[in-house]
Amino acid sequence: MKKFFQVDTMSKIKNKVFSQWISIAIEINQLLPNVPVLSCPNCHRQPIDFQFVGDVQTRIGYMAIWCPFCLHGVHLSRVRISDKIPDTSFDIPIEEISKRIPNFTHVKP
Ligand SMILES: [Zn+2]
Repeated sequence: MKKFFQVDTMSKIKNKVFSQWISIAIEINQLLPNVPVLSCPNCHRQPIDFQFVGDVQTRIGYMAIWCPFCLHGVHLSRVRISDKIPDTSFDIPIEEISKRIPNFTHVKP
């Protein structure tokens, strides 16, 4: 009985951090191109970093948001990339983009 309770509590904590990452993602999209300094929901340090990777024509792609300190973050696929981001910022060779995105732990919902 106790074991089940502990597992349940753990998943609730994880969900909370995940939802905080999602809120940050929404905030970034709403405030572009002037994104304020945002704190990591995991370790509370700042700033967190983000990168859009997508197609210039369709403007559909993915968004990676991560914390450069504790290396936690989220990866959102099939994101509509805001028109406020200049084409030049994601019309970059994939090797260049992967250099910008560190290997971070993907927070699960
Ligand atoms: Zn962090």
